[in-house]
Amino acid sequence: MTDISVPETHASAILTIDLAAIVENYRTLQKQTQGVECAAVVKANGYGLGAEQVGGALLGAGCRKFFVAHLDEGIDLRAVVGDAEIHILGGLVPGVEDVYRQHKLVPVLGSLGEIAAWKAYADGSPLPCDIHVDTGMLRLGLPPAELRQIADHPQLMSGLEIRNVISHLAAADTIHSPQSGAQLRAFKEARRILPQGQACFANSSGIFWGSPYHFDLVRPGVALYGVNPTPDSANPMRPTVELQARIVQLRDARAGDTVGYGATYKVKESAKIATLAVGYADGYLRALSGKAFAYLGGHRIPLVGRVSMDLITFDVSQVPHPLCHVGAWVELIGANHKVDDLAREADTIGYEVLTSLGSRYHRVYKT
Ligand SMILES: *Cc1c(COP(=O)(O)O)cnc(C)c1O
Repeated sequence: MTDISVPETHASAILTIDLAAIVENYRTLQKQTQGVECAAVVKANGYGLGAEQVGGALLGAGCRKFFVAHLDEGIDLRAVVGDAEIHILGGLVPGVEDVYRQHKLVPVLGSLGEIAAWKAYADGSPLPCDIHVDTGMLRLGLPPAELRQIADHPQLMSGLEIRNVISHLAAADTIHSPQSGAQLRAFKEARRILPQGQACFANSSGIFWGSPYHFDLVRPGVALYGVNPTPDSANPMRPTVELQARIVQLRDARAGDTVGYGATYKVKESAKIATLAVGYADGYLRALSGKAFAYLGGHRIPLVGRVSMDLITFDVSQVPHPLCHVGAWVELIGANHKVDDLAREADTIGYEVLTSLGSRYHRVYKT
């Protein structure tokens, strides 16, 4: 990709989000789970890409079940997805049961306390909810002791309209983790105690582990957004994000000159240094200091020195002169350099790169 086409804007960086690719990824996941319903996780503003736009696109693709983390995310999404189901993974916030009902939000209940509160609020006319069973995360969901209480006293679950019984994989991106097999067995055991509604287990990676993990409903997030759900093999998803920034200054450096805060990079021979107006305030992680790569006119260029709040610097000495000028667009994320590549350079995961994408970029949505 030597020639990047960009829209007219005064912005110094452009984030392009490909909604058609997100829809295609949804279809890929549907094909992977034939006969099983596919929900969409759009928490954290659609993994940073815009819950409103992503939610609208997936609704158009036929998705009728959405999961978010927080109550407020559910309220905002309600305006976008009509009467589709919205499930709140964070559970029930005590005292505001009214808000769930008013916006038709389904709480994912994760303790006998939450279950009792929702039942009391429903007061005899059951309201929809999901039940989260902890099978090994020790985070959210009914702990084993509470599940045993339900086994002994099934009437604890009367007066609820249970839509889904869910659990969450702890090691979903580590293929063949023995923990996943144990969680699968624990979930099947939980279903014997809680057979109501649909069973919902797999996240993005779990979908690629085959049908024993699929049950009735799957809940992918990150795969929709193009991050590789199968890190040990080729990415089956389409990339959905491009990030381009233009060169705002070009400087000639001599041997011994240093670049940026802390003078962490010393120029060995003469070099050409390009500055871009992107920094950690834009979610371009400071951990990328001295480690990231980008592409200019198809040429790979190394980031040198530290990432600062608003600026980053690359050594562009090896890029042929006509391609390298003030105003030239640099590919930070794109066909040559994927979200997963940038994540590896920052020693993190694609999830964090996406959900960190800043609000100062000029955002363009492709449909
Ligand atoms: C975030 C989340 C998901 C989606 O996970 P991905 O790995 O992004 O597919 C599914 N279930 C729960 C409970 C989650 O918190």
